[in-house]
Amino acid sequence: MNERLNRLANLPLRDNLQGLEPYGAPQIDVPIQLNVNENTHPLPAEVHRAIVEEVTAAAVGLNRYPDREFTELRERLATYLGHGLTPENIWAGNGSNEVLQQILQAFGGPGRSVMGFPPTYSMYPLLASGTDTAYIAGQRSPGYGLTAADAAEQVRKAAPNIVFLCSPNNPTGTALGLDVVEAVYEAGAASNTIVIVDEAYAEFAHTGTPSALSLLPGRERLIVSRTMSKAFALAGARVGYLAAAPEVTDAIRLVRLPYHLSAVTQATANAALKHVDALLANVEDIKVQRDRIVNELTRMGLSPASSDSNFVFFGGINDTGAIWEGLLEAGVIIRDVGIPGHLRVTAGTEAETTTFLVRLEELLNQAPPTL
Ligand SMILES: *Cc1c(COP(=O)(O)O)cnc(C)c1O
Repeated sequence: MNERLNRLANLPLRDNLQGLEPYGAPQIDVPIQLNVNENTHPLPAEVHRAIVEEVTAAAVGLNRYPDREFTELRERLATYLGHGLTPENIWAGNGSNEVLQQILQAFGGPGRSVMGFPPTYSMYPLLASGTDTAYIAGQRSPGYGLTAADAAEQVRKAAPNIVFLCSPNNPTGTALGLDVVEAVYEAGAASNTIVIVDEAYAEFAHTGTPSALSLLPGRERLIVSRTMSKAFALAGARVGYLAAAPEVTDAIRLVRLPYHLSAVTQATANAALKHVDALLANVEDIKVQRDRIVNELTRMGLSPASSDSNFVFFGGINDTGAIWEGLLEAGVIIRDVGIPGHLRVTAGTEAETTTFLVRLEELLNQAPPTL
């Protein structure tokens, strides 16, 4: 890799990309994959069938460009989200990563800044460097919380062009109160700051956790981003979307590539959205496994963060490398997010979760946790 990087350095690469390595979690082919927060349950048969039928029909027209405005998909997504949203409020892309990139293309760029609150989604600084937007790392309190007053004060001081609030937050798993979103939005009034609430895991939140969608009316600088990759078990289809004021979607039309959502992608997403109940059938089971992981890790003397997502972030590990390796030897891959003493695990099926828990406890008995 180093030799390749050296050769790369001879190219006229942009300054802020010099020395970087491509991002991505290891894709290792092991039986139990709990490292990238995918939905561990296969697509329900009825959804699979519907997708095959609709993609087959779409294939007939592949000599033509797709509907550039993906009208049917925006209608279906607006209906799914509710909250009085209409297709004018909706935008979609090839994964929410692309949608977030389009937001930065429209509202960030050279001479502009975007703020995040690490530890948070590792794509935020990468999307910043990819669009030549300065990344400002805000501070969380010990224990990784973020209060409304603290977040607002930091946004007021930094006056960024864009703020990322990830809720439920990746990698910690915890949802933010809507008071944090409201306070950050108010704090960004003077700097005309765009506030993005990344709700990639919203469907896994504990019952009663409100969505920032409810704050959209009257807040034209607020964007709520969602994805079909997690709860909808469609990570491979690459469909993410946002809800915001119509002027936000109009701004994104200025930077999107024409026909960026292929006819195959649109057919896949439309077919899936005709079966929302089946699609979300496994969410409750995943939440049960998630809560089980939190309870079991607590019993083992570890310190899991409270989770509103399909994964659990936990501390109290002496040697994260040894635990990660030991699990991998048993065919279980989880995530080392680079925070000392901590690891992150995606909730699996019941059987996968059992294998993870049993193996982890064996490894801990060989090297007990620190408290
Ligand atoms: C997984 C994830 C996404 C979704 O990415 P896609 O491009 O839609 O697959 C977005 N935000 C966060 C915080 C995530 O963890």
